[in-house]
Amino acid sequence: MSNLFGINGVRGVVNETLTSDVALKLGRAIGRYYDGTVAVATDTRISADMIKNAVIAGLLAEGCDVLDLKIVPVPALQYFVKTHDDVLGGVMITASHNTAEYNGVKCITSTGDEIGEAGQKKIQENYDSDMPSHANRIGTVTQILRGGEEYINGILEHVKVNDIRRANLRVVVDCANGATSFTTPALLQRLGVYTVTLNANPQGEFPGRPSEPTEENLSDVIALIKTAGADLGVAHDLDGDRVSFISNEGKFIEGDEALAIMARYVLSRKTGVVVTTVSTSSVVEDVVKENGGVLVCTAVGSPVVAKRMRVENAVFGGEESGGMIFPEFQYCRDPALAIARMLECILKYGPIQEQVDKLPVYHMEKRDVFCPEDKKEALMEHILSKCKEENIDTSDGLKVFYDDGWVLARPSGTENKFRIFSESTNKKKATSRANEYEKYALGFLFSI
Ligand code: MG
Repeated sequence: MSNLFGINGVRGVVNETLTSDVALKLGRAIGRYYDGTVAVATDTRISADMIKNAVIAGLLAEGCDVLDLKIVPVPALQYFVKTHDDVLGGVMITASHNTAEYNGVKCITSTGDEIGEAGQKKIQENYDSDMPSHANRIGTVTQILRGGEEYINGILEHVKVNDIRRANLRVVVDCANGATSFTTPALLQRLGVYTVTLNANPQGEFPGRPSEPTEENLSDVIALIKTAGADLGVAHDLDGDRVSFISNEGKFIEGDEALAIMARYVLSRKTGVVVTTVSTSSVVEDVVKENGGVLVCTAVGSPVVAKRMRVENAVFGGEESGGMIFPEFQYCRDPALAIARMLECILKYGPIQEQVDKLPVYHMEKRDVFCPEDKKEALMEHILSKCKEENIDTSDGLKVFYDDGWVLARPSGTENKFRIFSESTNKKKATSRANEYEKYALGFLFSI
């Protein structure tokens, strides 16, 4: 298996492309790379133990000591690795929002960041080299049951606990039967929030709903909001690095809108740079500017956003797909802190639906065009040649700006898709431009 790493680490179908043999060999490759103590955790998939134990065997064979954190969300593992100086790296066994037959391996650096390209390349080289173990000792495994607790304590240090406790708030939380089942309800309890919990029964079989916290997958939590008299609904993905919000009126809050609301709150406390990606709605730019901040856009991907945030010394960052990054805590998507901060937003600005209703209105049309991997480059070049004369940004795909909005066309990093985003203050224009680009892409794909 060559080129193990994709945009989100190693992913594969268990017992097909991601076998126990691959996981063992990958564990050895990672062990040679970190060459010290490594913390390991999983989400709640049924294949978690199989892949984890194979990876751990590889780490031990290369002389690494292993701290097994069991099931914790990705950001809890990242926090653990960052805050324990003797831990040189982390390994998360997860396939995030992929369906149940998938699993994967994500590596974390000693600073708690997702591993970058250079580290992935080195691990890939170790994997391909197939050398005998370099260790002069066999590693040991220690079970660590306090990873989730340390993470919650860390978050509470950054939150207005007493103010939230006094507000008697109600929240409905949907944990996707995933890793956050062990952390988010506990955090809300510590914040004195009356909590109604859904899908917090980790069984690994996806009995509650699909992992991705999109509006169509969240009908249960949406339906409960009014009955429960909740101030907020929150929903995670399986490995707990994403969160979606539902308003007190039971309306799904788009990721862009949630980012805008949070950016306003963060900027009210400390002004500075906010980082997001080129695919985020202009609603975020408007709110950031209105509140005295500076918006910086990057290519799509939370590690890219996090990296740029370090460079810019940014006060906040995030992706519209449900990831918020708070640099005062850690440089990775942190849904649990995002929930606590959203409660602080409600204390400061009132009911969340009222905050959403006050945001500038944009219309976004999204289209996915089926496009095999080997045709993506040609299609991108074709689309670029169309727009030479216009006001464009090519930091990720092609973004074309118009007076009333923009269009972004970019190849998906994880799927056989070409994505088209069209946004405008005018709904008809957003639709007609999306149609135009979709037709243009399809025309080219059929002609080659
Ligand atoms: Mg995830």
